[in-house]
Amino acid sequence: MFVWELTENKAWRVRSIRMAPGPGSQRLGALGAESKRKLQPETHVLGAACGARCVHKVRTVASQHSGSWQDQLWESCQAEAAGSIVPRRGESSHWCYEIQAKASNYTCLEPKRWDGECQKNRQSPINIVTSLAQLDHKLKPFSFSGYDKKHMWTVKNNGHSVMVSLENKASIAGGGLTTHYLAKQLHLHWSEVLNKGSEHSLDGKRFAMEMHIVHEKDKGTSGNKKEDQNPQDEIAVLAFLVEAGSKNDGFQPLVDALTGIPLPNNATTMTEGISLLELLPKQEKLRHYFRYLGSLTTPTCDETVVWTVFKEPIQLHEDQILAFSQKLYYDHLKKLKMTDNFRPQQSLNQRVVLKSQAPGSLLSWPLAALLPSILTLMAGLLC
Ligand SMILES: [Zn+2]
Repeated sequence: MFVWELTENKAWRVRSIRMAPGPGSQRLGALGAESKRKLQPETHVLGAACGARCVHKVRTVASQHSGSWQDQLWESCQAEAAGSIVPRRGESSHWCYEIQAKASNYTCLEPKRWDGECQKNRQSPINIVTSLAQLDHKLKPFSFSGYDKKHMWTVKNNGHSVMVSLENKASIAGGGLTTHYLAKQLHLHWSEVLNKGSEHSLDGKRFAMEMHIVHEKDKGTSGNKKEDQNPQDEIAVLAFLVEAGSKNDGFQPLVDALTGIPLPNNATTMTEGISLLELLPKQEKLRHYFRYLGSLTTPTCDETVVWTVFKEPIQLHEDQILAFSQKLYYDHLKKLKMTDNFRPQQSLNQRVVLKSQAPGSLLSWPLAALLPSILTLMAGLLC
């Protein structure tokens, strides 16, 4: 590992070389003072462009002369100057998705090396086997508050996704939850091909995108101290699968906002107000959902999430879906398009997935699925 520092005259110099265990150590060890001198002219350019006083630790691949270490240093410098890779408290530093790990020659932490609680056994996302989901009559419809209010939301490229800040302006209750939850933010996961991109899947079927509306337990209304000590449901995420279909006018102000936030830490405000309900499938379709206890799908993967995965997908036009991959970048140099920002699926282990059923519904799901063929049969008899 090289430790770099930026000098008073904005030149980079190698402060020290630390031996990291592993196959690269020997070759690193062979680099002497001569090699350090050779590196300096190039690092000068990087430092001057960075314009920030900071010390960088850049983990290099086996040979510093073989590949893209300069690029990695450059990106690291630019990102840190913009504040995007400075670790927040409790957050893993420099975690990334698989596609970024490949592109950076595994200099960032790919999903299987994420830390925090990420390697534990109650993780998300999962594949939901619908036939094994257990019916739970307590899973009643949700009540949505503030979801109908239009706002010109702030939208940000946070280096991993596009995030809309919801600032407690909406809340949910019901849906088998023990209390009210306040809406904090929503974000999406996607790919540039339409048969992957979602984090959860239904019977192995992946969707083009997945939208997560993240809520936190409203401490003001729970009142029950015992509940507060149980962190398993501290966060409630509503997950909506997205498939390609007709154009979704409700989503267009969000899609339009993407143009203004290509780079990490870019933020903008929607030019047209929209409500959260406008982003969702029709409310009567939201009675059908799956429920399980899991984790955040980004480090530190805290196992504090009560998940709701709705059966009815949101429809967006293919062009609206692809806009996310085309307009956003993971990095400041626009080298890597932001796409495939989903975590690999995790084992269910001992957990049970529950499913809701609409109260008073005359049609169970299998019968509902049969209905079109029954109608066809009837139409045939009538003719
Ligand atoms: Zn998410």
